[in-house]
Amino acid sequence: MNKNPIHINVNNLHERGGAEGVIHMHGELGRVRCVHCGMRHDWTTDCTQATACPSCNAAPGLRPDIVWFGEMPYHMDLIYTRLRACDLFISVGTSGNVYPAAGFVAEVRRVGHAHTIEVNLEPSAGVSYFEECRHGKAGDLMPALVDELLGKGTVT
Ligand SMILES: [Zn+2]
Repeated sequence: MNKNPIHINVNNLHERGGAEGVIHMHGELGRVRCVHCGMRHDWTTDCTQATACPSCNAAPGLRPDIVWFGEMPYHMDLIYTRLRACDLFISVGTSGNVYPAAGFVAEVRRVGHAHTIEVNLEPSAGVSYFEECRHGKAGDLMPALVDELLGKGTVT
């Protein structure tokens, strides 16, 4: 079902759930990026200022591969390409207040060929952009939504 989900958190829950092609717009906790050579490395152990970059051997210079507030999220061109091409857009568990992700549903609606569903504890700031809304705990609502979508053949 997960066809190139855009993940705004920095964990690997989508991958652990079996998703492939996850777009990590805010980076990944299990990776570091070198500020000198730009290389990214999987990293699950301690990393200090004395830790040298495995690619260029510079130290200090490794930082979490995470997008901090004020930095440009990763893969924005790819994300907008996917938003314009998708036929189903589901937003799960977001306030709809933090851009650029909060603007994704508006972009999907502007292009106009995807069904949009909000699943959130309460109506988000962008609720008016969604064609369908389900409010409550995502853990309670998502299994039924997935079953419905699979039953309709909307997703495979
Ligand atoms: Zn480096």
